[in-house]
Amino acid sequence: MNPQARILVVEDEPQLRALLRLYLEREGYRVTDAGDGAAAVAAFDAHGADLVILDLMLPTMQGEAVLAELRERGSVPILITSAKRTDADRIVGLRAGADDYLAKPFNPHELTARVAAILRRASPGGTDPVLSLAGGRFTLDVGSRRYSLGAGGGGRLTRSEAALLMALARRPGSVQTREQLLEAVARRPDEVFDRVVDMHVANLRRKLGDDAGEPWLIETVPGTGYRLVAERDTT
Ligand code: CA
Repeated sequence: MNPQARILVVEDEPQLRALLRLYLEREGYRVTDAGDGAAAVAAFDAHGADLVILDLMLPTMQGEAVLAELRERGSVPILITSAKRTDADRIVGLRAGADDYLAKPFNPHELTARVAAILRRASPGGTDPVLSLAGGRFTLDVGSRRYSLGAGGGGRLTRSEAALLMALARRPGSVQTREQLLEAVARRPDEVFDRVVDMHVANLRRKLGDDAGEPWLIETVPGTGYRLVAERDTT
């Protein structure tokens, strides 16, 4: 369970949108919402998300198009909700890259159960106590934050370094902005400034022997942010 997970709710019906926010916040999730497709993509770019709940039938930009846009940005889990109830629609939705599908009307308890299950599967810090990268070149015990570089030694990451690395590992291969990463590491409002992220990345690189010019772990994307380039191993 990852109660700090951020969920983007995309739903054009205001009452249902408010209700979803209420149920999810009651479970401890952080919620961003959007009432149409363009706003959804903008909200994702601005805040990121650990999971997206996406209504397929939206004004202006259809849910399918939103899904395609999000997929271009990486592997964020997507739960589709739709009043289209036929199996054909379900299969089209899942083929287009959604992780799960819930037909409307749905029971809010079923929704939160599905959300928890998807996050458990997706979260490196959820049921999986070890984060392993680049074919075992780097492993991190999430609980103790002790890491190993094999023959290259090991040590311990700070809470912020571990949080930053886990945030990057949540979406391997996709760029995350400093603002998105800041949310993962900042615990108090007075810690909020962009350079904090750069500082933690520099510390991670130094500890883990990563070279900014030729990274095996974290790549700098100029003007945007950072991206995990190491493959996540399935354990
Ligand atoms: Ca709708």
